[in-house]
Amino acid sequence: MKIGFIGLGNMGNPMAANLAKAGHEVTGFDMADVDVAGVTIAGSGADAAEGADIVITMLPNGQILRAVANEIIPVMQSGSVWIDCSTVDVDSAHAVADQAKDAGVLSVDAPVSGGIGGAAAGTLTFMAGGSDDAFVKAEPLFDIMGQKAVHCGESGAGQAAKICNNMILGVTMIATCEAFALADKLGLDRQKMFDVVSTSSGYSWTMNAYCPAPGVGPTSPADNEYQPGFAAELMLKDLRLSQQAAESADADTPMGQVATALYQKFVEAEDGLGMDFSAMLPRFEKRGRG
Ligand code: NAD
Repeated sequence: MKIGFIGLGNMGNPMAANLAKAGHEVTGFDMADVDVAGVTIAGSGADAAEGADIVITMLPNGQILRAVANEIIPVMQSGSVWIDCSTVDVDSAHAVADQAKDAGVLSVDAPVSGGIGGAAAGTLTFMAGGSDDAFVKAEPLFDIMGQKAVHCGESGAGQAAKICNNMILGVTMIATCEAFALADKLGLDRQKMFDVVSTSSGYSWTMNAYCPAPGVGPTSPADNEYQPGFAAELMLKDLRLSQQAAESADADTPMGQVATALYQKFVEAEDGLGMDFSAMLPRFEKRGRG
């Protein structure tokens, strides 16, 4: 298949390389000077998209996505498929899907989870929104770049699933970290805390699979001085998207709101920038109630 791939950053680069490795003819474009194994680099997004059976975008935010949509949709052939794997706001996902539909282009919003490691290994999870037709055509590429693709519903449903999942993740990480900090002050050994909670009703992915306490539970960024992993600023981005969507849909999300404010403070006013999102634990550890 002829594939155009726009946005060849940390995630897009290995994803495009995996498609080329699987035998597809991939033409890519990025604003930055990039080199991707097996991929021909074009001079613009439109050049990469023109004549492609499938175009994939992996971009930083909704504003950039909308600009790229204006550039590529007019040159895409009718019946071709556009898969947007970026994490963006639900409103932008809807807007570009409508634009694609008007031009006869099938579109899928398909944000991912699994991070840079998952992108390199081809083990991402895709959360997809779009018509059945579009999903069926995108599925073989999801199989190359990932290990699981869930068709969540119509356009925007992929982004909705992604931000709801990550809102739970942010809130749960904070709860896990503050509970560890409280346990410390109550004189409870961290290993004992893990042994109990990981097998009791307080268990969660953040405790059991990504424990924020160094030396406890499976190996996680906590064991590597909180180098990301999943950076606190990326968690902040996703939490902000959740609150933007909650505003737009008039949903009451008090815990999501508090988690957003806390990660904002951590990233913008404290030392959270560039740290893994589990570095909330050393943050709480140093503080009292005041
Ligand atoms: P990145 O910043 O490394 O890559 C984005 C790329 O887009 C950059 O190389 C940039 O030069 C390029 N770009 C910007 N504007 C462009 C334009 N107009 N035309 C062409 N290229 C343009 O970011 P990333 O880590 O690869 O993340 C990409 C998306 O995936 C984001 O939406 C992010 O939230 C999401 N995501 C990231 C991770 C992760 O762990 N990094 C995990 C899941 C989802």
